[in-house]
Amino acid sequence: MSVFSDMYELGHEQVVFCRNEASGLNAIIAIHDTTLGPALGGCRLYDYPTVEDALKDALRLSRAMSYKAAVAGVDYGGGQAVIIGDPSAKNETLFRAFGRHVDSLGGRYITAEDMNTNVEDMNQIGRETRFVTGSSVKPGGSSDPSPVTGWGIYQGIRACLEVVYGTPEVKGRRVVIQGLGNVGWAVALHLHQHGANLVFADINRNRVRKALEAFGGEAVEAEDWYTTQADVLAPCAVGGVINPTSIPLLRAPIVAGGANNILEDEDRDGEALIKKGITYAPDYVINAGGLISVAGELRGTPREKVMNDAMNIFDTVKRVLNKSAMESITPVDAANRLARERMETLAAIHRTYIAPNAARG
Ligand code: NAD
Repeated sequence: MSVFSDMYELGHEQVVFCRNEASGLNAIIAIHDTTLGPALGGCRLYDYPTVEDALKDALRLSRAMSYKAAVAGVDYGGGQAVIIGDPSAKNETLFRAFGRHVDSLGGRYITAEDMNTNVEDMNQIGRETRFVTGSSVKPGGSSDPSPVTGWGIYQGIRACLEVVYGTPEVKGRRVVIQGLGNVGWAVALHLHQHGANLVFADINRNRVRKALEAFGGEAVEAEDWYTTQADVLAPCAVGGVINPTSIPLLRAPIVAGGANNILEDEDRDGEALIKKGITYAPDYVINAGGLISVAGELRGTPREKVMNDAMNIFDTVKRVLNKSAMESITPVDAANRLARERMETLAAIHRTYIAPNAARG
């Protein structure tokens, strides 16, 4: 493995290997690109089989964060931390040791919750550094980003409807929501309020029952969600659900949902969706409301402005789909290109010299 060749290939600025013997900490912090601002991204705790696997995950996820922020117009860069270890053995010292490493980067990287880490862990990190979000330590501490995520997904669904049907109107449209957790529920709420006909699928029957009580609609078995005839399929549960097994059986012209990594393979499955005439809203574009929320919190942006910013996801999804059609590339490629274009343009602006004492807004 050559760390540098991987870094060059994906465009990373910095990778930091962190260890602390007393706490047993082994972690990697990947800073992809700070053109737009400090690198923001989660801290994942996972028992990676090898250091190579951990590095690969950190590199992949940090680049995804740069692109997500760039396309969403959020002034943050992309970063990701991975702690290599057994999630059931996590403890205070592990996160405090990690927090000191984050602090040593002086704000180039801001950490947050991710897989197997929670508010309590962020609180421990927050005892060692202020470069953490999602902890309840800070005054005005973090709140759940899911409502903003759901609002943004609703906007993205409207954009897809406009592209496919010529109108963003959701009234009377049939939408299947897979996953009725924080995100799926928020999506259901907006769609219901605007008159959509909802179909629910979740492995947790209790959640389906509650959704039916709250919004009416229908339920399908969890494994039948993608074969259900509908106007929109909104995967809001887990990744990898659009793949060579599910694609031939899809009976909806639109796939637009909030789960991360919806496509099992971006290129292969993105192409297959185009061939089948299905419009796909790239996950990281449509679910950027969470990032917009966290970024807003870090900057003290009023909630109303945050919701307005997330509304722009409507235009962004349309821009991505237009570019995809014009350039005959997949929507994910189109989004990636938009992200890189924005980062390059802003990098060019940042070349301008500004005297150290100059006041900037
Ligand atoms: P959650 O844990 O609150 O909810 C997930 C729901 O999916 C649960 O109800 C669960 O029972 C259900 N589920 C799990 N596996 C399923 C399956 N195979 N079939 C059907 N249902 C299944 O999680 P969440 O916060 O709502 O996040 C959902 C997805 O959105 C995740 O992929 C997450 O990474 C992504 N996401 C979340 C946010 C956010 O703000 N929370 C932001 C961006 C992306």
